[in-house]
Amino acid sequence: NEVTLAMIKPDAVAAGKARDIMNSIESNGFHIIQKKYIQLTEAEAKDFYAEHEGKKFFPKLVSFMTSGPIYALCLSKVGAISAWRALMGPTNSTEAREIKPTSLRAIYGTDNTKNACHGSDSTLSARREVLFYFPDISFP
Ligand code: ATP
Ligand code: MG
Repeated sequence: NEVTLAMIKPDAVAAGKARDIMNSIESNGFHIIQKKYIQLTEAEAKDFYAEHEGKKFFPKLVSFMTSGPIYALCLSKVGAISAWRALMGPTNSTEAREIKPTSLRAIYGTDNTKNACHGSDSTLSARREVLFYFPDISFP
């Protein structure tokens, strides 16, 4: 089994959709092996999204991600990284509604910033991002 890091972002938590999203995660065969409900500080959000520093959308992304509490979830499944990105759908929720209307970002997100959820995009980022929230998880 592979692990990946998911976040239920402030928009979806504020809209009361966290439970629905977790139900969908589990009914799609993922196990939620760790769960944390937290509000990121500005420094933590900047650190988490360091790869995007300098991009035009970075300040907006940081202010969105610190605007309210989130859920960080460590998910486990065979092929978890790509399976979770597939379940989330395209980054931009507006585009997701056109291309993949059954995806979580199509259903629960709004636009290209407020897009309801996050998923690690590679083995390396999954490791980094899981350890960011869950330093006690051991990797093979
Ligand atoms: P995530 O990393 O959250 O799973 P992603 O990998 O699909 O999403 P990234 O390119 O890593 O997308 O962007 C990280 C986040 O930054 C996006 O989820 C979104 O909230 C925001 N974002 C990305 N691109 C834009 C953009 N062009 N304009 C505004 N916000 C954006
Ligand atoms: Mg990304």
